[in-house]
Amino acid sequence: MSKLNEFLSSKSQFLMIAGPCAIESHEQIASFLELAKDQMVLRAGVYKMRTNATSFQGLGNEAIEIIRNLKQVKPFDFVTEVTDPRQIESLHPVIDMYQVGARNMYNYDLLKELNKTGKPVLLKRAFSATVSEWLNACGYMQDLGEDKIVLCERGIRTFETTTRNTLDINSVIYLKQNHPFKVIVDPSHGSGIKSMVAPLCKVALVSGADGILVESHPTPEMALSDKHQQITPSELNDIRSELTKIASLVGREIL
Ligand code: PEP
Ligand code: MN
Repeated sequence: MSKLNEFLSSKSQFLMIAGPCAIESHEQIASFLELAKDQMVLRAGVYKMRTNATSFQGLGNEAIEIIRNLKQVKPFDFVTEVTDPRQIESLHPVIDMYQVGARNMYNYDLLKELNKTGKPVLLKRAFSATVSEWLNACGYMQDLGEDKIVLCERGIRTFETTTRNTLDINSVIYLKQNHPFKVIVDPSHGSGIKSMVAPLCKVALVSGADGILVESHPTPEMALSDKHQQITPSELNDIRSELTKIASLVGREIL
């Protein structure tokens, strides 16, 4: 069974999803997979939703080809953000889970189209969505239901500007206590600061979250997007070792 399917059908496993913010080249992804020892589900951007129209927007079809080729060499699960229903057709053959980004949580037409694909969806929380609005968005993907919708807490906008966002750990605990959905935490966008990523991964595990989504790049200083929050694959491997030590104390197993 693939890592992702194992995760979706289990209650105690904790999933690590990681990868560069954006796919930049074949070499970059091949190098990342090798350095991170294929230990996680790969998440890397094909289409990027950038706040600034002149920022790097992703390689699009070229990135899809890169993933197709790498999967042929050695299979892995692939998650990427879909920003428009028109991308579904070309993404479908290579994707294992669609990511809906914070900017699209309210894009109900996109959610309705994803509901028809039958593939799992990682639904990020919008910057200022309440938990109730976030859960309402799940209603547009009723056919996927609790088995195939994974919620992702990625930080919200508050009066605090020291960090990029404020990671709302309350939402994670609340959701785990009151709803059936799996919840994962994105400490990279949640803080925007690479040194905060490892501690927040531990917080995620002990808070009862079901996994983490971490941005990691083989050469973060050269990244074309989000370079301040991406950690190296070696740091990612260290996070896995640290989480493995804690996992048994809280009845979890790191996938
Ligand atoms: C991302 O995951 O790369 C991303 C753009 O995140 P968000 O939608 O949470 O801003
Ligand atoms: Mn990013």
